[in-house]
Parts: sequence; C-alpha cells; structure tokens
Amino acid sequence: MLPAGLPPEPTAARASLSAEGRKRLFPNATDAEWADWRWQQRHAVRGLEQLERYVPLTSNERAGVQETSALFRIGISPYYLSLIDPEHPFCPVRMQSIPVRAEARIRPGELADPLGEDKTRPEECIVHKYPDRVLFLALDTCSVYCRHCTRRRITQGGVAELSKEQLRRGVDYVRSHPEVRDVLISGGDPFMLSDSRLEELLAPLSEIPHVEMIRIGTRVPVCLPMRVTDALAKTLRRYAPVFVVTHFNHPKEVTPEAREACERLVDHGVPVENQAVLMRQLNSDARIIKELSHLLLRSRVRPYYLHQMDVAEGCEHLRTPIAKGLEIIQQLRGYTTGLAVPHLAVDLPGGGGKVTLQPDYAVEYGAQETVFRNYKGERFTYPEPEETDCTCPYDGVWQERAPRYGYRKG
Ligand SMILES: *Cc1c(COP(=O)(O)O)cnc(C)c1O
Ligand code: SF4
Repeated sequence: MLPAGLPPEPTAARASLSAEGRKRLFPNATDAEWADWRWQQRHAVRGLEQLERYVPLTSNERAGVQETSALFRIGISPYYLSLIDPEHPFCPVRMQSIPVRAEARIRPGELADPLGEDKTRPEECIVHKYPDRVLFLALDTCSVYCRHCTRRRITQGGVAELSKEQLRRGVDYVRSHPEVRDVLISGGDPFMLSDSRLEELLAPLSEIPHVEMIRIGTRVPVCLPMRVTDALAKTLRRYAPVFVVTHFNHPKEVTPEAREACERLVDHGVPVENQAVLMRQLNSDARIIKELSHLLLRSRVRPYYLHQMDVAEGCEHLRTPIAKGLEIIQQLRGYTTGLAVPHLAVDLPGGGGKVTLQPDYAVEYGAQETVFRNYKGERFTYPEPEETDCTCPYDGVWQERAPRYGYRKG
C-alpha cells in the first residue's frame, strides 16, 4: 500500500519494451539466461539468416547486410534486439544495429581512420594525441556492433586482437610518460572483458603515481545492461576515480534495465557520463536530444558530449550538417537545465582533435562593454571592468606550499 496522498506507482502500469520483445523473439529464454550477459553474448545475432528469423528486413536492410558483410561485422545482443521495432526501419535501435546499403558506399573524402589516430599510436593499444591523456585500446570486441562505429578498422576484428604482451607494453608506455594523468580505456568495449581481465588492466594503471584518473568508454549499459553487475561496479570502485563514459543516442535506449545499470554504477561511487553521436534521421532533433538528456539525468548520468559524426567510411548517410548540431544546442540552452546541455564536439578529420562549438551569444565585443543576445534573442550589455590585470599573486606561494600538504601538482 502506498501512503495516502502519493500518486500511484507509475512503473506498475507501464509495459516493458524489452519484456515484450523478449516474449516475441526469445520465448524459451529463462529469466536466469536472459539476465546472464554471457548467455546474451552466445545468442547474439551475427548473420543474415539469423537476423531474418527475428526481424522482417526491408530490401534495403537485406542488401545492406549482404553488401557490408566484407566491411564490418554484425552483432546484436538479444536484449538490444528485443528493443527493435519490427515495423519501422527508422527505429533508432534498428538503425544503429542493422546495416543499410548506404553503409557499403565509401564516398570521396571518407577515411578508414577518420581521426588520424594511427599517426599518434606509439603502441598498438595507445593513442596519444593530447598532451596529458591517452586512449588505451584494450580489445576489439563489442556487445553490439554499431552501424555508426567510426573505429571499425579496429572493431571489425582480427587486426587488433591484443595480446597480454601488447597490453603490458601499453601500461609500460603510460608508466614511462609522466605527463599522462588521464587514461581513457576504450576499444572495442572494455566491459566485454571479464572482471578479472579488466582488473588486470586497472590495477597496474591505477598504481602509476602520475595517473590521476581513469575513464572507461563503454556501450554495455545501453546494449548489454546485465553485464553491469554488483561485482563489476565494486571492481571499478576499488580503482577510483574511475569514470564510466557510456553511449546512449536515443531516449528509447534508456530502458528500466539500462537505467538500473547506470544507477548501479553510480550507487557504487562510479560517476557515469554520456557521449551521444548526432545521427541524421535518428536523433537529429532538439526534442529528441532534450528527452534523452532528461532521461539520462533522471538516471544520474550526466550528458557530456554530443558528437558530430566523424567522416568515416560508410557513414555519410548518418552525417548531419554542422548547423543542425548548433541549432539543437541553441534550442536547449536556456530552455532546460544547464546540466542537460552537452558540449557539441567535432573531432577534426585527419587528427586535429576535438573542438567544441556553441551558438554565438556575443554580438559585439568592445573595450567598455560586450553586447550579448540571450537565449530568447534579446540584447543585453555586460560592462567591462576598469581593472584588467588578471594575474594571481598568491599562485606562486600556493605552488610552492601545496606539495608540502599533500596536494598533488595539478
Ligand atoms: C576524445 C579523446 C580523448 C578524451 O578527450 P576529452 O575531451 O578529454 O574527453 C582522449 N584521446 C583521444 C585520442 C580522444 O579521441
Ligand atoms: S560499442 Fe563503440 S567501439 Fe563498439 S561498435 Fe559501437 S561505437 Fe564501435
């Protein structure tokens, strides 16, 4: 019984999207099997024949599967498959997991290595592009192979099967580069490793004195939420600060299961951030991004980046004009919680790194004043101060004293 005066429990009446799909597609799976991520992996759909059994494919999708078969693998966990709308080819879950013909078309200017990562890859598993942080490519497998994956040269399999020796060399690289204070473990999907394999990576990295933080990029909370067990969350917490950076692109993906996975991490003291990718006709609309942000915040996940799609082979059909991303940000800023507004990031083709864009709110810069327009387009003036010396006299003192009191150099 609910205490008097409270509204009825809203979840009680709500149908579960994945339960519905599961009943239709995997009626024989037991609860224990469904909740077991290894069962999910063993039953992932990996080819056309299998896929046809579960989803009535359009001719575009059927041809897409055939024409991309030599280019990039297919893999869809039963859970993610259960979210697919069997009637609508524009279902965002479907668009992210089933290829279409356009994916087989490589346009002029598209790159196999769109971010120029291979130029800054001192070790097989290290991308060192920015001064103080590295990307650590731990493996080449994923729970679902995203049709928009721009690292498919790695996740297509075979090439980057990383040996223990290569991983050790990666850790050695970080150890011998004292400027690296932030390690972003990615791949592939690091949560496809067993807890103990993951720990074999986290333990030595977190022991390196100059490594201040670790981030793990994963799509597991979205595509395989049952992988986020208490044991996994506890393992991560042991190596704090570990941030999990996940990858929800559409509100439909924020199911009760996905939400529980995120909250389990947060409850264990592991902050979760989200990087979404803007994709044409999938989430290229301010209303959708706003709903996504709101659902994420309610799951205690902080929207971090909204990525402009990279210029990667076979992704042209998913790219939006730069102006669309800016328009979306403009429609969020001021209209919703500031925390719900992600940074719009463009990772520059060829290896320039990420830059962020935002609508220009400053209208005129002057020595005396700066003129702005606010989110509604109204003009406001900000007077410049008389004094402009911004040096901080105490900083020299602080830098000298801080180490004595156990503050590490930032
Ligand atoms: C995105 C990225 C990072 C992390 O960038 P942040 O802006 O710190 O989140 C680090 N290395 C590489 C190669 C990247 O692409
Ligand atoms: S989970 Fe990440 S690395 Fe794996 S296919 Fe999707 S986008 Fe690519």
